[in-house]
Amino acid sequence: MESIGVLLVAQVIPYLEQELEKRYKLFRVWEYPQLPIEHANSIRAVVGNASAGANAALIEALPKLEIVSSFSVGVDMIDLDTCKEKGIRVTNTPDVLTEEVADLSIGLMLALLRRICQCDRYVRAGNWKKGDFKLTTKFSGKTVGIIGLGRIGEAVAKRAEGFNCPICYYSRTEKRDSKYKYYPNVVELASNCDILVVACPLTKETHHIINREVINALGPKGYLINIGRGKHVDEAELVSALQDGRLGGAGLDVFENEPVVPEELFGLENVVLLPHVGSGTIETRHAMADLVLGNLEAHFLGKPLLTPLV
Ligand code: NAP
Repeated sequence: MESIGVLLVAQVIPYLEQELEKRYKLFRVWEYPQLPIEHANSIRAVVGNASAGANAALIEALPKLEIVSSFSVGVDMIDLDTCKEKGIRVTNTPDVLTEEVADLSIGLMLALLRRICQCDRYVRAGNWKKGDFKLTTKFSGKTVGIIGLGRIGEAVAKRAEGFNCPICYYSRTEKRDSKYKYYPNVVELASNCDILVVACPLTKETHHIINREVINALGPKGYLINIGRGKHVDEAELVSALQDGRLGGAGLDVFENEPVVPEELFGLENVVLLPHVGSGTIETRHAMADLVLGNLEAHFLGKPLLTPLV
């Protein structure tokens, strides 16, 4: 397979990059401001991640492209319609990261309501001697509303149940076999929960699914947790609601223009800000890498793909 050209369009873990290098003729997009035509003609696979994939222009520039394999479960950076149209296969890394992202969601909820990050800073700054830390908010028993009761949403629900949290959700279709309460729109869900979790894919329909109306429905005692994608949230509205006290707080793993984070958030106490690390453990990133490698191998050996999307 050494003669097969693979284009890496995003930084991935060293293990994946090294394995790709061993198996294929690897091109790194950042080494080629302009990809020479002979290289473009040899590239049969693109490997991307949550921040870079394959748009229509890239697909157009690679006439021999057969497969786009994403080192992520979200595929919002891939032009799926163009791939379908051109018969280009698409794979992602579902399931292997579900537990990690769900664990981190609960971590965000606890950190936000119990102010764990501020507590840590308070102790490090030597402030404990001056008096006790101010009281925080209880997490157990809070109603958790989930947008997108899929793999990650279900795993968040299961974990939150362990904290005696009633669970409700919104998705395009009601899950008939689910024991959780369904709301047919996001505003109703937000009005009826304390903590709203975004766990759906980013699509045209879910862009800014968290808007002013939803934020106001969640209210000054409500908390937003975003472990989906930054563009799910109208960030300007979120910042203004947090500043005005119209929203209780937000735990964010993802941002609209990441890695750029609105500086207004840095001074707020009622936010927890993470650098998109939902799946970021050694174990899970390795499992994701093995899925990318397995999908490419299956494709080039003419075998069924492990996790086909298109
Ligand atoms: P999944 O199993 O496909 O679940 C997605 C859920 O979203 C489904 O229940 C689906 O239900 C619902 N949904 C789809 N379109 C919707 C819409 N327009 N409105 C409301 N709900 C909608 O996906 P997953 O594996 O749980 O992953 C979910 C997302 O999490 C990924 O797409 C990715 O963006 C994000 N993610 C983030 C990180 C991170 O590091 N922060 C890591 C992994 C994944 P219906 O079809 O019934 O609507």
